[in-house]
Amino acid sequence: MEKDLQKLLERLLTFRDERDWARFQTPRNLALSISLEAAELLEHFQWTREDEPQLSRDKVEAMSEEVADILIYLLLMADRLGIDPVEAAFDKIEKNAARYPVELVRGKSKKYTKY
Ligand SMILES: [Mg+2]
Repeated sequence: MEKDLQKLLERLLTFRDERDWARFQTPRNLALSISLEAAELLEHFQWTREDEPQLSRDKVEAMSEEVADILIYLLLMADRLGIDPVEAAFDKIEKNAARYPVELVRGKSKKYTKY
């Protein structure tokens, strides 16, 4: 795993273990938490329109907390399942590159099953 992510994970595990919270952080609870935090991020767009002006600084700051929450739970989940998230992401990008050849999809947004 990348050095910064590894350091972040170690900090998270220390934080968790000091509080004896590992037993609550089951894969199920972590999956729920990732989804809930992603919904909190989405909530910032509730009742907004596609053509609205740029997001305010305050809004971006509030959203950064949700981004942090998502990353935290995602790292805990990956650790719990023994997944290296950076390696998994690189693997996934390679799969997507094969599914979406540039010459076929450039500038298009359809799912790979539609090509
Ligand atoms: Mg949150």
